[in-house]
Amino acid sequence: MESEARGKVMEQFRQGFLQRHQNCREWKKKGRGVMGCFYGLVPKEVVHAAGFLPVQLVEERDGRLEEKAGLLPFLCGMSKNLTGQIYEGRYQYLDGILVGVVCDTNRHVLDIWAHKKVFPYLRLLKTPSTATPAAWKFYASDLRRLAEELGRMSGQEVTEQKLWKSIELYNENRTLMEKFRVSRESLGLSAEEGLYVFASSLVMDVEEHNRLLLNLLESPVKAPRSNSEAPGVLISAMNLNMAWDLIRLVEEYGGRVVGDDFPNNARYGISRIPMEGDPFLALAKGYLRRVPAPGIYSFHERAESLAEQMRLSNAKGLIYLVQLYCDAYAMEYAILKERFDSWGIPHMRLEAEDNPASLQQLNVRVQSFLESLM
Ligand code: SF4
Repeated sequence: MESEARGKVMEQFRQGFLQRHQNCREWKKKGRGVMGCFYGLVPKEVVHAAGFLPVQLVEERDGRLEEKAGLLPFLCGMSKNLTGQIYEGRYQYLDGILVGVVCDTNRHVLDIWAHKKVFPYLRLLKTPSTATPAAWKFYASDLRRLAEELGRMSGQEVTEQKLWKSIELYNENRTLMEKFRVSRESLGLSAEEGLYVFASSLVMDVEEHNRLLLNLLESPVKAPRSNSEAPGVLISAMNLNMAWDLIRLVEEYGGRVVGDDFPNNARYGISRIPMEGDPFLALAKGYLRRVPAPGIYSFHERAESLAEQMRLSNAKGLIYLVQLYCDAYAMEYAILKERFDSWGIPHMRLEAEDNPASLQQLNVRVQSFLESLM
């Protein structure tokens, strides 16, 4: 693919993310529903099979939103930001919101939204923290109820055939995203561009996203861009805006981001759903303890997976970025840290708020960490 054509595909990923509200409104105009998903533990396959566009709620950088939310100051910025967006009507086009339990905050912010009646349909999905036959059965039966509710709303019954089709599409997306993740540098794309490819996967129609990924992956490469002299780091971050800031900061101080672990991504994209048996049970087996959410996923496996990603991407160090007041990821890091120390993996935790000045204040720490890797 000529670089101009590649640029056009990348622009579609960029606009797919940046114009997400506009795109969703267009989708609605065609008479189709849009369902908000609070994080990666919502099985988007069921939402898709019922004819809705599943759209992950993502943070927007606007200082007024937290104030608008009026939540307690010690709650995480993510919950305050999303609440502010909802109160301000930025998600007015949604037919409802599904919350897959990841932490106490995302579980209970739903109660506040329900109290305020922000949407007529607000649904909690309880996610057991075990992966036993009893847990799979419990979760699968809740997903069956969810499919019935969504099918009634959209007028499109979720048949087994439709659900398998949706599972297949999301599995294809997982496979393509994984291929993209390992080949991003050899495709000549920057970490910043890579983040747009990922971010758009959270808010775009899966078939369209698969088509764009195929275009990108199947095209010949002219000149891979890589400054192999610069120390490579893996970054782990939840907040997308902060991840973009961190990528720029790393590059400003002579490093390069060779791999990324966006917990949204890992949760949603890490493993394929088994295509056998009952589709609801298959989803239960594909989600429970397979999606690395802190506290309901094995910390040891999480540490091993990050170490493996570092090995595969030749990263010399790991920067773990936590949003202020996010206890879930602060706790995860405290436990992972012991493993990283014992394995001799250079790592650093940064804690900041979602505004450019907050991370910029930590520039000296980023600079010294990168220097220690040279
Ligand atoms: S995981 Fe962290 S950022 Fe996300 S809702 Fe929970 S506390 Fe907030």
